[in-house]
Amino acid sequence: GYCRFRNPYHNNLHAADVAQTVHHVLCQTGLMHWLTDLEIFATLVAALIHDYEHTGTTNNFHVMSGSDTAMLYNDRAVLENHHISAAFRVLKDDDCNILQNLSRDEYRELRTLIIDMVLATDMSFHFQQLKNMKNLLTLAEPNVEKSKALSLVLHCCDISHPAKKWDLHHKWTMLLLEEFFRQGDLERDLGLPFSPLCDRNNTLVAESQIGFIEFIVEPSMAVCADMLEVILAPIAPIANNNNNSLSSKAISSSTNDDANTLNVPEEASCEAIVCEAAEEKSSSAGTEKPTSMPTRFKIKKPWITCLAENKKIWKEQAVKGE
Ligand code: AMP
Ligand code: MG
Ligand code: ZN
Repeated sequence: GYCRFRNPYHNNLHAADVAQTVHHVLCQTGLMHWLTDLEIFATLVAALIHDYEHTGTTNNFHVMSGSDTAMLYNDRAVLENHHISAAFRVLKDDDCNILQNLSRDEYRELRTLIIDMVLATDMSFHFQQLKNMKNLLTLAEPNVEKSKALSLVLHCCDISHPAKKWDLHHKWTMLLLEEFFRQGDLERDLGLPFSPLCDRNNTLVAESQIGFIEFIVEPSMAVCADMLEVILAPIAPIANNNNNSLSSKAISSSTNDDANTLNVPEEASCEAIVCEAAEEKSSSAGTEKPTSMPTRFKIKKPWITCLAENKKIWKEQAVKGE
């Protein structure tokens, strides 16, 4: 399904990239210790299917061109609804049903989680999603729902390439822009107005990337980090353990769904989570810290330097007019 439309960007490589990034976050932050095996499984499957059968055109294009899919989903989260529906249809096939050993209740829980997570990858929910989470984190005792937390993690991973090394970020950007430009060519042929970033002759690439990083990616990563710090603070000794791989969790929690009752290794190392005051200064790109948040509990934020470096390179290119 990911190869059907031969998209430069929205193909199986993007799905694998997002799944790998989600896996990295689950392991490196220790978030997996907050989750049941079923929730981890749902998150990884959601990442894998989140753009399934992407048409290489945006929701806006579906709506403006009155596509069959837009008609089916009444212009709301058109692509995201399709990704979920088409993927679950594949899972109905006996040869593909990786869910067949789940109980009815487990299946219902997993399906609800996946639907919530993939629908939340629709960029039109971006600002509301961030605002809701920010507001929640200002409460004295924030109670972050699993589905909301995992949706934000998946959304952040989906837009995470600017938070990685320049070579990767540049490559993904060029692939996405080529996909956008092909949509622009279609829009021109159909007499439709160009969607943003879709006119191959009038798109300021460097400027658009600086805007995307500053207004979308940086705030998303900052809120997600704040959220992770709130979630992980109460289970810090578990999250800090040096066996932060999903395979080690599989061994230690195979009979146990409750993160609070996991076996904690005696000598826990602080590889994944840094609790030092020195780390405070690296959170300058983060949002205001809620007063109730336990101080001195910080996760590593390796993306901050990448975002800054990538922005710097785009700025240099903008100056040169490249
Ligand atoms: P998805 O289409 O599910 O991968 O959702 C991610 C969305 O983020 C894309 O559709 C774009 O709208 C946006 N996006 C990702 N990378 C960039 C980029 N380099 N420049 C502008 N928008 C981007
Ligand atoms: Mg998508
Ligand atoms: Zn995606």
